[in-house]
Amino acid sequence: MTVSVSYLICPECAYATNDRNKKFCEYCRTELLHQCPICSSPIQEEKAIYCRECGLKLRISITPIQ
Ligand SMILES: [Zn+2]
Ligand SMILES: [Zn+2]
Repeated sequence: MTVSVSYLICPECAYATNDRNKKFCEYCRTELLHQCPICSSPIQEEKAIYCRECGLKLRISITPIQ
């Protein structure tokens, strides 16, 4: 059995933390995402930009390299 680490990420400024007690981004005061708002899948990558399950963009401030 593996213990999965999930992250909280800020959709505005791309801040990420694994401190589950945080609710708001320390930098821009945006509410942190604990999981995907569409499919509720946990965010398992600190640098994730898209949800691995449904492809929703979690970090709106990041423009992916085309
Ligand atoms: Zn932020
Ligand atoms: Zn999703």
